[in-house]
Amino acid sequence: MIDIIVIGNGPAGISAAIYAKRSGLEITVIGKDAGALAKTDKIENFYGFVEPISGSQLIENGILQAKRLGIHLLEDEVIGIRYENGFVVKTVNGGEYQCKSLILATGVGRTTPKIKGFEQFDGKGISYCAICDAFFYRGKDIAVLGSSEYALAEVMDLLPVANSVTVLTNGETPTTQFPPEVTINTNKIVSLNGDDVISSVTFEDGNTLTIAGMFVAIGVAGSSDLARKIGAVTNGKHIVVNDTMETNIPGFFAAGDCTGGLYQITKSIYEGSVAGLESTKFIRNNN
Ligand SMILES: Cc1cc2nc3c(=O)[nH]c(=O)nc-3n(C[C@H](O)[C@H](O)[C@H](O)COP(=O)(O)OP(=O)(O)OC[C@H]3O[C@@H](n4cnc5c(N)ncnc54)[C@H](O)[C@@H]3O)c2cc1C
Repeated sequence: MIDIIVIGNGPAGISAAIYAKRSGLEITVIGKDAGALAKTDKIENFYGFVEPISGSQLIENGILQAKRLGIHLLEDEVIGIRYENGFVVKTVNGGEYQCKSLILATGVGRTTPKIKGFEQFDGKGISYCAICDAFFYRGKDIAVLGSSEYALAEVMDLLPVANSVTVLTNGETPTTQFPPEVTINTNKIVSLNGDDVISSVTFEDGNTLTIAGMFVAIGVAGSSDLARKIGAVTNGKHIVVNDTMETNIPGFFAAGDCTGGLYQITKSIYEGSVAGLESTKFIRNNN
């Protein structure tokens, strides 16, 4: 079992790994790309850089620094986490990695679809976590909004309990193979309908699908999507943590943009450092 897994290789994740590594523990960082900084041309407000540095260069430096310190880096996308004698992290490439303590540093950005009725039924039949809420839809007809591996992971959690599962790609071409028992509907969605809770979806071609609930799994699993899978408390798209960056789940920490507040590199580095140190304390105190 790995000691600490950090999900995210941005400033928060790499800082967490660097600080945790000082204790001599085995650390693995899983990240899928350069995160928020990939879009940043010039960073001019970061202490110590006389000339501006690009976001992609800063990320590359962080990754090289982590590698030099013996931190194991894995390029992969996390699609699920669960607790089973430790934290188990599941990735798109089929890997399952078990660890004693987990640090989530996946930044922010949940994709909210611009569909009429979406906001009205958010939380009223629209859910973001199959493993948390599937139970409420036992024997019912359910839709999953999405077209990627992440959507597939949600489908696999729903299939054993739902009467039927329909994948709604909202005009996208699926990027993965769904099991044959799932219906794939690639029509564009015009509206979500219902009274108190969602009850149907209307498509551009005029057809309507009756559903009891809809699970949103667009693109990549966001930080709050992942956190909720093991019962961590969230506040909208942010993860709730205490002063030591620990969530309500012992041994499960979060850092950086995903905890809210100031979306800045300095804040992410600070929180990553605290999470890294506290995660090592957790392991020392519990093993
Ligand atoms: C256009 C723009 C300009 C900015 N300019 C500045 C600036 O000048 N100064 C400044 O201080 N801040 C700036 N920021 C903010 C700064 O980029 C963020 O505050 C900082 O990058 C947050 O760090 P983080 O580690 O929390 O998240 P991120 O940097 O977003 O890193 C998240 C990491 O998580 C990974 N990840 C996400 N989901 C998954 C998944 N499911 N599986 C595996 N890995 C996953 C990503 O690949 C990435 O490695 C800017 C942001 C933007 C968008």
